[in-house]
Amino acid sequence: MKTLRLVWIYPDLLSTYGDRGNALVLERRARLRGLPAEVTEVNSDQRVPADGDVYLIGGGEDVPQTLAARRLIADGGLREAVARGAVLFAVCAGYQVMGHEFGGSDGEPVAGLGLLDMHSARAEPRSVGEIVADVDPALGVPRLTGFENHQGHTKLGPQARPLSRTILGTGNGDGTEGAYQGRVVGTYLHGPALVRNPGLADLLLTWAAGELPPMPPESETLAARLRDERLAAVTPQP
Ligand code: GLN
Repeated sequence: MKTLRLVWIYPDLLSTYGDRGNALVLERRARLRGLPAEVTEVNSDQRVPADGDVYLIGGGEDVPQTLAARRLIADGGLREAVARGAVLFAVCAGYQVMGHEFGGSDGEPVAGLGLLDMHSARAEPRSVGEIVADVDPALGVPRLTGFENHQGHTKLGPQARPLSRTILGTGNGDGTEGAYQGRVVGTYLHGPALVRNPGLADLLLTWAAGELPPMPPESETLAARLRDERLAAVTPQP
C-alpha cells in the first residue's frame, strides 16, 4: 500500500499554538486505519517537494509570515502540488498566505500564492478567543471548535467558498470562517484545529486516500472528550 506523504511546511517560520499537531493527528488517524503515513518537515531553506499527498502550514507572526510567502512563491513546489490535486490545509498566517494578498507588519499589502481566491488585510481590534462555527453542509463535517488570535480580516472572492459560519468568534470578519477551493482548505482555527475537529481531519484524509476504513472506536475517546470539553466551555448550558 502506498505511504501517505504528509508535508509540514516551514515549521521554522510558522507553527504557533501547537499547529504541528495537525500533521501528527493526520498521521495517527491514517495509521489507526492501517494506512501507512509519514510526516516530512520542510524548513524554509529547503525545497518544498511537489509529490506530497497532504500539505500543512501553520500560523505565526507577521514578519515570518511575509518571509514564508516570498519563499513559497519563489520555490513553486506547493503551487505545483496543488495544481496536480494535492490536499492543502493552512492555518491563520498560513491561511492568509494562500490568498492573493495579506497585510504585512506595517499593514502594507504583501503578495500571497493565490491558491485561495481571497484578500486579507489588517483590521481592528485583534481577534482573540474561542471560536465555534458550523461547516458548509456540502462538506459533511460537524461543528468546528478552535482558538483564534489574528489581526487580519479576510474577504473571499467568487472562486472560494466559506468553510463555515461563525456561532462565536470573528473568523474572516463577516460572519464566515475559513475558506475552501478544490482541495485547498484554510482556517483561522488553532487548537490545534484537526485535534479538536477529527471530522475535518477525516475529510482531508478522504480527499487524499479515498474512502477510509473505520477507526477502532476506543481510539476516539480522548478526541471526543477534548471536543466536548471545549464546546461546553463556550456554549451556554441548558
Ligand atoms: N499575522 C497574522 C495576523 O495577525 C496571523 C496571526 C496568526 O497566525 N496567529 O492576522
